[in-house]
Amino acid sequence: MRTFAYERAASLSDAVSRAAEPGAMLYAGGTTMLDLMKLGVYRPERVIDITYLDDPALREIAVDGESLRLGALVTMNGASEDATVKERAPCLSESLWLAATQQLRHMATLGGNVMQRTRDTYFRHPDWLDLAEGEASEVETYGNTPYGDGRLTAVRQPTRLSAVLGTTEGDTASYPGDFAQGLVAFDTVVEITGPDGPREMPFAELHIRPADKANEGDYARLAPGEVITAFRVPLSPALARSTYIKARDRQSYAFANASAAVGLEMDGETVTDVRIGLGGVATVPWRATAAEDVLRDGPLTEETMRTAAEAAFADAVTHEANAFKVPLGRNVIVQALTTLSRMEG
Ligand SMILES: Cc1cc2nc3c(=O)[nH]c(=O)nc-3n(C[C@H](O)[C@H](O)[C@H](O)COP(=O)(O)OP(=O)(O)OC[C@H]3O[C@@H](n4cnc5c(N)ncnc54)[C@H](O)[C@@H]3O)c2cc1C
Repeated sequence: MRTFAYERAASLSDAVSRAAEPGAMLYAGGTTMLDLMKLGVYRPERVIDITYLDDPALREIAVDGESLRLGALVTMNGASEDATVKERAPCLSESLWLAATQQLRHMATLGGNVMQRTRDTYFRHPDWLDLAEGEASEVETYGNTPYGDGRLTAVRQPTRLSAVLGTTEGDTASYPGDFAQGLVAFDTVVEITGPDGPREMPFAELHIRPADKANEGDYARLAPGEVITAFRVPLSPALARSTYIKARDRQSYAFANASAAVGLEMDGETVTDVRIGLGGVATVPWRATAAEDVLRDGPLTEETMRTAAEAAFADAVTHEANAFKVPLGRNVIVQALTTLSRMEG
């Protein structure tokens, strides 16, 4: 058993200074932290609990000028049930409602949600970490894990969970969350506080693509001690006319095989704004700009929707186990656009 110290942060600045220490990790709802600690993938020496911070800036949902501001400690349930989020950003509300389970949504926070890690079997088995830390000289083979037959090799093998977009030859791990697709589609800004004070970053830059990773643990562009404090989503007619479609193995308690957060603005028969964020199919929250380009300034017909969906997956790299994600992902895009086309603008 690995021991660790549990520390409750007294304030945001206290959290920042504690989390900046070597071996420390932030802890919010704990719904994925604890799993990864039990699996031995996360090995913090100190766990810095921020869930008790009562700072309104971390807990509030507010319309702030032209943006919807969601505090990082708002729970998934709190945001999904919020009347303003439902009205001004339905894709965000729906994505959270379709994520995980009611119990998890009550515990889990928005900050923790975007920082969740891949469900990829290779990552969730600590062998790669043991190798990296010199605790093992070779990769062992474990049987009977909850993730298939548990057989691992030194090279990550594509599975049906694997991504088809943004992959490299050795890294096909998919980003699993639901909330991030709407954030990436609508140019969200992440507010961060760290040892050097507050800063902002486009949400699209938060997650590191495999091609830019220095190592397996490399994941997000946050320095030690940096805490996400809020997400600022620019309000727009397309955000107000948006939806989230999620295709999964069962109707609850399952991650997306393919999902899309899509928003639409029309002027008569012409698409004036369209946003498409894809999930389940890519290594990071994925903006399908090529698909948006097909639709923008043109008509929304069955043909243009299909052409856009084709464009979204034009660069897909598939393997036998995950090739189904391309037609599934295309259909999810078409379904979302069709749903929106029937709504009042
Ligand atoms: C069985 C199961 C099913 C699930 N299904 C889904 C699903 O369908 N869709 C989906 O989207 N998610 C799903 N999840 C994931 C779940 O949504 C996440 O576990 C949850 O959102 C994480 O939030 P948390 O507050 O519990 O984070 P924690 O577990 O506390 O932390 C997660 C990570 O975020 C970091 N962190 C937390 N807060 C901050 C912050 N403010 N700034 C910087 N770093 C921070 C922590 O250090 C840690 O690395 C599922 C989880 C489980 C266990």
